[in-house]
Amino acid sequence: MAIAGTDIRKSDGAGKSSRPGVRVGVLGLQGDFAKHVEMLEQVPDVSVSVVRTPEEIEQCDGLVLPGGESTTVGKLMARYGVDEAIRAGVSRGMAVFGTCTGMILLAKEIEGSDQHRLGLMDITVRRNAFGRQVDSFETDLLIKDICSQSPVRAVFIRAPYVTNVGQDVEILAALETGEVVMVRQGNCIAAAFHPELTHDIRVHGWFVELTRAAVASYSG
Ligand code: GLN
Repeated sequence: MAIAGTDIRKSDGAGKSSRPGVRVGVLGLQGDFAKHVEMLEQVPDVSVSVVRTPEEIEQCDGLVLPGGESTTVGKLMARYGVDEAIRAGVSRGMAVFGTCTGMILLAKEIEGSDQHRLGLMDITVRRNAFGRQVDSFETDLLIKDICSQSPVRAVFIRAPYVTNVGQDVEILAALETGEVVMVRQGNCIAAAFHPELTHDIRVHGWFVELTRAAVASYSG
């Protein structure tokens, strides 16, 4: 497996964007990381790169964990020491945004599974929770702090949802039928859907702002 810090855009030689600002990495072990890079590149003042090693994660102010297959990504994380680097990053103030598989990996509890995880958020998730009949669907979603008036189009693909939250966890979005699909605990954010599969950059833009605020708070 390629492990180098490849920037999947045309390289500027340094493996990083030439734009200034906060540094947001997208974990590129598996899954749809390229789409997240495309979205983040539309947000001003952020340097975006695909990251795969503990050393690269150490350089990040914010990190996106993309959708994919959570058992595979969990194993790869453990094999390359990426899980420890992410835990260390969060304790120094790095912001993390997990989508779909990323949400599952952030959860402390995964119903009926002992698969490897980061366990950074006090939530219980149910994998593939919407069942076979509705493998994939889209819906309009209002998200607290991001869009309370004009919804985003949320795309769900074999998605989990959250079945239990600890007291430090804030619910940012739920479906009309009640399923919790976006949560926040400190600088850790998890969404069951795929904001990278639309043309709406509000969710990514909000995550970059959260990352910027995190940097401001730990750099004094
Ligand atoms: N069902 C997948 C899993 O358990 C998640 C699907 C996705 O990320 N779109 O990892």
